[in-house]
Amino acid sequence: MNRKAIIVGGGIGGLTAAICLREIGWDVQIFETAPLISEIGAGIQISPNGVKVLQKIGVMPLLEESLFEPEIIEIRLGKSGNKLVQVPMKYVALGRWGARYIQIHRADLIAGLTARLAELSPNSIKTDSKVISFDNMRDAASISLQNGKTYQADLVIGADGIHSAIRNQMFGPEAARFTGNVAWRAIVPVESLGALAPPPTGCIWTGRHKHAVTTRVRSGKAVNFVGILEHSDWQQEGWHIEGKKADALSDFKDWNPTITNLLKKAESLHKWALFDRAPLPHWHQGHVVLLGDAAHPMLPSMAQGAVQSIEDAYILAQTLASSSATQIPTACGEYFQKRIKRTTQVQKISAKNLNLFHKSNAWTQFINYAPIWFVGRYTPILLQKRYDWLYGKEFGPLLPTSLN
Ligand SMILES: Cc1cc2nc3c(=O)[nH]c(=O)nc-3n(C[C@H](O)[C@H](O)[C@H](O)COP(=O)(O)OP(=O)(O)OC[C@H]3O[C@@H](n4cnc5c(N)ncnc54)[C@H](O)[C@@H]3O)c2cc1C
Repeated sequence: MNRKAIIVGGGIGGLTAAICLREIGWDVQIFETAPLISEIGAGIQISPNGVKVLQKIGVMPLLEESLFEPEIIEIRLGKSGNKLVQVPMKYVALGRWGARYIQIHRADLIAGLTARLAELSPNSIKTDSKVISFDNMRDAASISLQNGKTYQADLVIGADGIHSAIRNQMFGPEAARFTGNVAWRAIVPVESLGALAPPPTGCIWTGRHKHAVTTRVRSGKAVNFVGILEHSDWQQEGWHIEGKKADALSDFKDWNPTITNLLKKAESLHKWALFDRAPLPHWHQGHVVLLGDAAHPMLPSMAQGAVQSIEDAYILAQTLASSSATQIPTACGEYFQKRIKRTTQVQKISAKNLNLFHKSNAWTQFINYAPIWFVGRYTPILLQKRYDWLYGKEFGPLLPTSLN
C-alpha cells in the first residue's frame, strides 16, 4: 500500500511538495484554508535553482506561455535612475547555473502547479479546510480541522506559511518579528506606461531607507512593482490590504519618473508589513514536518522565499524516497540537516541585502555602491560567481537510481 502524506497549506511550497511526493509514489491530500486555490495579483522571480526543480517535476512546460526571462538583473539609483550594475542573466543562466531565471505572475505559477498535481493525482486538494492542530501517533500523525473532522496519514507536512498553526503547536505560539519594513506592490500593463515603462529586466532601484524592484510578468506584457520602505508604525500583514495611491506617491516622491508614473497608473496598490522569524532548532516532531515559510520565513530581498520552499519540497521527497531513510522521523531529521545551513544562509543574506539597498545618505551610498559598480563594470563575472552556491545547486533524481 502507498504511503500517504497530508499537506497543510496549498501555497507554492505545499503544492510542490504534493507533486514531488506523488512522483515518488505517495498518496497526497492538501488541506487549504482558502475557499479556492488562487494567488494574489503579484509577480515572483524564480531563480535557476527553483526552475531546475520545476523542470524535474514536469511543471515548466505549463509555465512557458506566461513566463518572462529578463536579459539582465540590474541595480539603479532610485532618484536619478543611473545604472550602478548590470549582470547579464538571460544568456548566462542556463550555461552557468543549469537553468533559466524567470519572472512570472504568482497566479500563473499556482495554475501550473495545480495543473501538474491534477495530472498526477486528481482531486487531491480540499479547500475551505482550516487545520487547527495535529496529533502524533506511534507510526502516523493526524490533523484536526476547524469543522471538527480529523484525518490520518503516515506524514503531516506543515506548509502553512509564516503564521503556521503546525509550527505554533510544535514550538509554542510566538509572534513573528516585524522587520520594520513595509512593502507596496502593484501590477500595471506595460502599454499604459508609454516611454516611462521600466526596463524589461529585474531592476532594483535603491534609495534612502527604501528600495523598489520592477520585473515583468504575463510574458512581458505587465510590470510587477514591489516597493519596500522602512516604516515603524504600520504592521498589518495580508496580501489583500489596499493602500492609498497618495501614500505610495508620497513614499516615493522625488523618485525617478519611471517609478512615480507607474504608481500613478496603477489601478490598485496593496500594502504589506514584512515579518520574519529566527531559524528553528529542528523542523519535525515525530511524523509531522515543516517546510517553506512555516520553517524559515525570509525577507524578499533575495527573491528566494518561494524558491527555497520549492527546494525544501524536493529534498524532503528525495530523502523520504532514499533507501537509507526507512523511518519517516529519521528521514525528516535528515531533511532538516540537508536544508538548515542553506536556508539560514539565505535568510541572513536577504536581511543584509535589505540594508545594502537602503543606504541613508550620499556618502554611505558611495562607499557601498562604488565597489559594486566597479566590479559590475569591469569584472561582471565576479558578480555571477557570487551566486554559484545558490543558483548552481544540483538536485539529482527524486528516486534512488536503483528504483528508477
Ligand atoms: C513582497 C514580496 C515579494 C516576494 N518575492 C519573491 C520572489 O520574487 N521570489 C521568491 O522566491 N519569493 C518571494 N517572496 C517570498 C514568497 O512569497 C514566500 O516565501 C512563499 O510564498 C512561501 O510559500 P509557502 O508555500 O511556504 O507559504 P505561503 O505562500 O504563505 O502558503 C501557505 C498556504 O497555507 C495556507 N494556510 C495557512 N494556514 C493554514 C491552516 N491553518 N490550514 C490550512 N491552510 C493554511 C494559506 O492560505 C496559504 O495558501 C516574496 C514575498 C513578499 C512578501
